[in-house]
Amino acid sequence: MQDLRIGLEVHVQILSLKTKLFCSCSSDYRGKPPNTNVCPICMGLPGTLPVLNKGAVKEAAKVALALHCKINRISRFYRKNYFYPDLAKNFQISQYDRAGGVPFAQDGYLEMSDGKRVRIRRIHLEEDPARIVYEGGITRSPHALVDYNRHGIALLEIVTEPDISDPAKAREFLEKLASILEYLGVYKPGVEGAIRCDANISLPGGARVEVKNISGFVDVEKALRFEATRQESRISRGINVERETRHWDEIRKITVSLRTKEEEEEYRYFPEPDLPPIVVTDDILEEAKVAIPELPEDKRSRYMKEYGISGTLAEALAYSPSLAGLFEEVVASGAPPKSVASIIAIDLVSYINERGIEVEDLRSNPRRIAGLAKLMEKGELSHKDVKRCLYHMLDHDVGTGEAMKALGLTGGFLLNEELERIVDQVMAENPKAVEDARRNPKALNYIVGLVLKRASGRVDARAAARLIAGKIRST
Ligand SMILES: [Zn+2]
Repeated sequence: MQDLRIGLEVHVQILSLKTKLFCSCSSDYRGKPPNTNVCPICMGLPGTLPVLNKGAVKEAAKVALALHCKINRISRFYRKNYFYPDLAKNFQISQYDRAGGVPFAQDGYLEMSDGKRVRIRRIHLEEDPARIVYEGGITRSPHALVDYNRHGIALLEIVTEPDISDPAKAREFLEKLASILEYLGVYKPGVEGAIRCDANISLPGGARVEVKNISGFVDVEKALRFEATRQESRISRGINVERETRHWDEIRKITVSLRTKEEEEEYRYFPEPDLPPIVVTDDILEEAKVAIPELPEDKRSRYMKEYGISGTLAEALAYSPSLAGLFEEVVASGAPPKSVASIIAIDLVSYINERGIEVEDLRSNPRRIAGLAKLMEKGELSHKDVKRCLYHMLDHDVGTGEAMKALGLTGGFLLNEELERIVDQVMAENPKAVEDARRNPKALNYIVGLVLKRASGRVDARAAARLIAGKIRST
């Protein structure tokens, strides 16, 4: 699709905090009976005052630095006024006002796989509204239920420029952002509703349409794809694309109109009088810097440079903190990095996907993967057999030796013996080729080819070549 412009507004709950943004209620609200994780402050009762959670400032600074943003040393809170059951106070404390306000941080970027940057316009802190439950879906439910347990949870809003030109790239952006946030300790995968996304999307000749509250990165891609096709079809038929807010119906897989876009004025923004400005001191900045670990972009380049791993494998490892952790642990035990990378990024990932589990659930240990990688490196197991072996090891919680025995794989010494037998046969049957190879090392490949053929590809070409060359030298 040409000239598609997509911008994202991502809401991230700061999972590393123990309490809400302005009170001491627990941030761990999930699974509690409705409306039990509340207090007079987050319910906005008269006479109460909010107090800013200092930890939230440090976490926001970490995220801002990781996304290459400029942090404003002084920023303010504003009240966004609207009357809706998800706000107990009838206003939300946010850092956004009609003119944009001074955000916590601004002008950053996130680098994509193709090297292009998606610019980050702003990052700010705000409180999470309550959860409204529409039984059977927002368009069909006869009533709405409200649960204030989530109300007041610390949120970071991360707003991009409309730099994304493809729904698949929107998904990539979110996956990369989630990975960075996971490294920072701000986010954990699998925590329901911890990252929520609004997207705006437009085509030349049409107005900007906002798609609200899409949960799940796959659904973001689907919703945007649907919306792009809908807008393109209207424009091509000469029908207006109106400025409006739409909802992604994840059951019917379509977007539906919620309301035509309200003007910003209706929110009657004004500075929050109950909270002092946020001041980011040198100390906070320094603490945030120190707390940032090696981030995936840097990890990816390091894996390529230090271990000679391909860009694709390095990226697959680097953007998954759990896979990267496992990879580094296995390599640290002395296993060959390239083989370890391909076992983890290809075979282990396909195992995880097929079994529908997480890396953390694996019954495996780095020592076993290291053992497998060494066999692969020496050419004693083909890649196909490495995969079978790995699956067996993980399914039955056994080591390499036992897995190979169970699968009837001839590995280790046995295979070497077998290889030697085949090499001897082939050399005896082709004396002329052996003579050629003695004079011209390049002719060796011909014999290697014959050996591979007879062994039905079950040997490593390099191992066979070493063995043949050795035999030619010693005869
Ligand atoms: Zn509270």
